Amino acid sequence: MTETIDELLHQHLLRADGQEDLCLATYAPSTGSRRWTALLRDVVTPKPGERTVHRNVSFTGDYMVRAAVQAAAAGLGVAILHSHLRGRGWQRMSPWDADAEQSYAHLVEAITGLPLLGMTLAGVDQAWSARTWTSTGTPVWAEGVRIDGGQLRVSWNDHLRPSPRAQDTQQRTISAWGTTIQADFSRLRILVVGVGSVGLDVAVRLAAAGVQHIAVMDPDIVKRLNLDRLIGATRRDASLGRPKVDVAVQLMRAAATAEQPDIVGHRMSVCDPEAHAIALDYDVIFSCVDRPWARAVLNSLAYTDLIPVLDGGIGIDAFDDGTGMRNATVRTHALRPGRPCMVCNKQLDPALVQIDRQGLLDDPHYIAGAGPDIGGGHENVALLSPNVSVGLLNLFVSLIAAPGGEPDPGPLRFSLSTHSLEHLDHRSSPTCYVEQTVGIGDARPTLTGAPGCEQSA
Ligand SMILES: [Zn+2]
Ligand SMILES: [Zn+2]
Repeated sequence: MTETIDELLHQHLLRADGQEDLCLATYAPSTGSRRWTALLRDVVTPKPGERTVHRNVSFTGDYMVRAAVQAAAAGLGVAILHSHLRGRGWQRMSPWDADAEQSYAHLVEAITGLPLLGMTLAGVDQAWSARTWTSTGTPVWAEGVRIDGGQLRVSWNDHLRPSPRAQDTQQRTISAWGTTIQADFSRLRILVVGVGSVGLDVAVRLAAAGVQHIAVMDPDIVKRLNLDRLIGATRRDASLGRPKVDVAVQLMRAAATAEQPDIVGHRMSVCDPEAHAIALDYDVIFSCVDRPWARAVLNSLAYTDLIPVLDGGIGIDAFDDGTGMRNATVRTHALRPGRPCMVCNKQLDPALVQIDRQGLLDDPHYIAGAGPDIGGGHENVALLSPNVSVGLLNLFVSLIAAPGGEPDPGPLRFSLSTHSLEHLDHRSSPTCYVEQTVGIGDARPTLTGAPGCEQSA
């Protein structure tokens, strides 16, 4: 859920009078390759008489039917949420909870076509827990509940996603933020899209920090002209034409400090529908690609499916006559509801996305005729690419640890000529078509397809 919905639910469920409370909400499904996620959409607050708060909270069948009909009309499912004011951490269900939820599981699924989602909010530490119900009335526990905000907060189900055991090789890492934050972030499933100079650096460092589940995704092979930037790739990798993801996986496994690292390479483009479904299985995504189409896909996914995407890039401004350098500018930003998307941020040109999607960015005749603004200009170099990886990793630490209580800082720009870092005041456009799709999940617009699939259109 977004932090906005989390706050709204707190107001409703954590009552000042010390009584436990209940409410209903709608959710959209987000179906990945292996993971199914429910994205909370709207709170359906009870009308007078639809629920009573007295010792044990109770509610009327009419309230449930009203919410289910409202959800079904929008193609959504229903969630029933209640609080345990003295609870801490992942909550089990009381017999009353299980009875109440189970008794509506069949009805709700018959009306909406989607399973009933039950959620509990613990009053002491605000941890969430969640389960869905099969239509026959069996609970299926979630492995975690994510709050997509300036700080990514995850309530973990320790039974399904146990905390990885701290290793003696991680002492220095843990000393930076303590065991709780380490246990929380090392359980995140992290995907790095694009393993060029930046993505490879980020992926290896995540593995060294103890993150257990990391995947890299890139369709390309190592070529000789990559060797001045892909630190760790060899001449032999280039002559064999090894996939970049294979080289990355090898280097990540060598660096990994987790007890049982799960490191996977996907040799595919995130623009491919199958790869897009895989991306939906992850909790945080690093966008280390420069192609406009791939960046547009990730830009959309951050909002439609509530997966924070950390994006960045560098622009090197050399004098045209090859006599020196004017500047280099590094931009980094977290894409998430409440922050401007890549288009509003002026980091993605929708016209270029269309050209890339039509397969024309690989067409030398088209590039030559289209002028200097198309293609090139964003190639990284070994001495400067760490600026981008450090920017992305700083954003990641802000997201998971909020140093000094400060979460995601918003869009940043580092200028090499003056060595200055600016906070940019980019705002979301009120008509932004990307940011109007927050939490729509499987109803997302289709941006994926075969390369050049629109050529004949
Ligand atoms: Zn309860
Ligand atoms: Zn936008």
